[in-house]
Amino acid sequence: MKPRDRLRIAVQKSGRLADTSQELLAKCGLKFRQSRDKLFCFGESLAIDLLLVRDDDIPGLIAQGVCDLGIVGRNVLRERQLAAQEDGDAPASRELRALGFGRCRLAIAVPQDMRYASPSDLAGLRIATSYPASLAAWLRVQGVEAGIVELSGSVEIAPRLGTADVICDLVSSGATLVANQLREVASLFDSEAVIAAAIDTPPDERGELLEMLLRRLDGVLQVRESKLVLLQAPRDALDSIARLLPTGPRPTVTPIEGSSDEVALQAVCYGAITWQHLEDMKRRGASNLLVLPVEKMLA
Ligand code: ATP
Ligand code: MG
Repeated sequence: MKPRDRLRIAVQKSGRLADTSQELLAKCGLKFRQSRDKLFCFGESLAIDLLLVRDDDIPGLIAQGVCDLGIVGRNVLRERQLAAQEDGDAPASRELRALGFGRCRLAIAVPQDMRYASPSDLAGLRIATSYPASLAAWLRVQGVEAGIVELSGSVEIAPRLGTADVICDLVSSGATLVANQLREVASLFDSEAVIAAAIDTPPDERGELLEMLLRRLDGVLQVRESKLVLLQAPRDALDSIARLLPTGPRPTVTPIEGSSDEVALQAVCYGAITWQHLEDMKRRGASNLLVLPVEKMLA
């Protein structure tokens, strides 16, 4: 492999993760010029380039050193790691950050009318999946022996076609399962898009670029989850109201002109604020509640 001084990130060319992956990198201040073949994007703001590929190729590109980083589903990364482990190979990539999008789970689903009480009911059945190593590892932990039918796509129709009895596939809303008269009965693991990298950080300038990118990414991820909460409340109810909020820096409390016991509270929260949060705070005496998105943050 020729030495490189530019960091190279592989992202999905088209599909569920493609747009959000590029948007996330843009929020980190990365700008790219796209080449004519639309497979390689040259980084204009920093020495960081993009390679647009199929998501299945990302762990391999990292393992071969063609790319330093990738944005890929944990499901793809874990499958590759487990397959390498089965072959007796050392892991070639690792997860550096979870990115909070592309959420789904790898799950077992059975025909609606099949009896299922526990994993032991899968014994002796044929399970169709695109994730044979992940499924084999789970079956081993459960102590269940079953057949694995490896399919590269359209796993959900295998029971109807008679090529398998049940399936092990990615599920997000569950709508595809319902449409195919299947019912989810067990989840193997939760997945989301992650930053994947080689086990060793590059020992040259690329290592510094990687550190900088991760720092920016942490800031972007924290801001994305953060909210500014404004409310008014009786001073003696403040503690119990503040305890309901997700963690963040210490809230600011200011007096309200013309009111002796009511104060205004301003709090940055690192986490989602739900309607339930608002109702609980109102019940404790809060009023005029506002939840605002945070655009940028510098502590
Ligand atoms: P490619 O052409 O790049 O190989 P693909 O068809 O394998 O694309 P997509 O369907 O775009 O992949 O899914 C990419 C990733 O999106 C999955 O690996 C998974 O991490 C995530 N994902 C989120 N929800 C779902 C879902 N309901 N079904 C499948 N993948 C999902
Ligand atoms: Mg794929």
